[in-house]
Amino acid sequence: PAPRRARAGRARPLQETAMSDTRLSHPERIVYPVAKISKGEVADYYRAVEAWLLPELVERPLSLLRCPDGIASACFFQKHHADSLGEGVHPVRLRESAGQADYVYVRDIEGVSALVQMNTLEFHPWGAKRQAPDRPDRLVFDLDPAEDIAWSELKRAGREVRDRLAEIGLDSWPRLSGGKGMHVVVPIRPGPRWAEAKAFSEAFADAMVAQSPLRYVATASKVARKGRIFIDWLRNARGATSVASWSLRAREGAPVAMPLRWDEFSRARSSTDFDLAKALRRAARLRSDPWEGFAESRQRLPTI
Ligand code: ATP
Ligand code: MN
Ligand code: MN
Repeated sequence: PAPRRARAGRARPLQETAMSDTRLSHPERIVYPVAKISKGEVADYYRAVEAWLLPELVERPLSLLRCPDGIASACFFQKHHADSLGEGVHPVRLRESAGQADYVYVRDIEGVSALVQMNTLEFHPWGAKRQAPDRPDRLVFDLDPAEDIAWSELKRAGREVRDRLAEIGLDSWPRLSGGKGMHVVVPIRPGPRWAEAKAFSEAFADAMVAQSPLRYVATASKVARKGRIFIDWLRNARGATSVASWSLRAREGAPVAMPLRWDEFSRARSSTDFDLAKALRRAARLRSDPWEGFAESRQRLPTI
């Protein structure tokens, strides 16, 4: 099938896109077997949504989900840098449990394309920039529904998280994960360290559970989660990541993690509303940022 390409606001003309893809090996190789989406189409996708994707992930340590033989075979997470990842993919030395290690970051679409060449499908940035890895600049409340939770219930939960955050003076923005749940993302002015961000997030989740113990749970235990929505605050720890907005997911159907306006979120029909093709159309059509105000937000983390 002919590759689907977007005419996004800042997308390159087709020829230039094709020419700058010369380093892509095996563009015809099928990555999503049922949807029949090729590696070349994945590369084209990331180039087409560049203007929306890059602000999400440049200059941040990244975990990559790589699927060398497509999503039907084994995929693996990678967080450490290797020269084999190619030019445009840079190392940033970070402290970790056993000493130090070089993590991965990119500055531009060339870095993203190099990672796609290495069969990266999903991009998972830290909630901090590589220049200040110990000062988070965003929190993520990752809402994970148990199997028996209806989508309408999950949407209600997302809006409730938004409203509780607003009560303590925090604006937040929603994202469909492209999996089963959604993320409520809260930009914060860098300053607090991870320990503080984590303590805040745990206290916030605990308060929601205290108020609605039949609906929410804040512990990862599978038993406790039955029939409830897990407010996963553990994303807000040093070294934890969340999927980037506009990242593809390595699941059949090629769903995309999609940032929405709250009114759009209220109308969403599932977490997988946006697949690769629909995300391309959205990128081409969008006239204003669904997360308008997010990047400029300078809100402080309150104490609770
Ligand atoms: P869903 O809506 O299905 O929950 P999700 O992206 O929120 O999709 P989670 O399982 O809740 O997926 O995980 C949250 C985040 O934790 C992921 O986005 C990813 O960044 C990180 N993560 C999950 N599993 C791993 C792993 N094995 N290695 C590294 N990071 C992981
Ligand atoms: Mn989740
Ligand atoms: Mn989770």
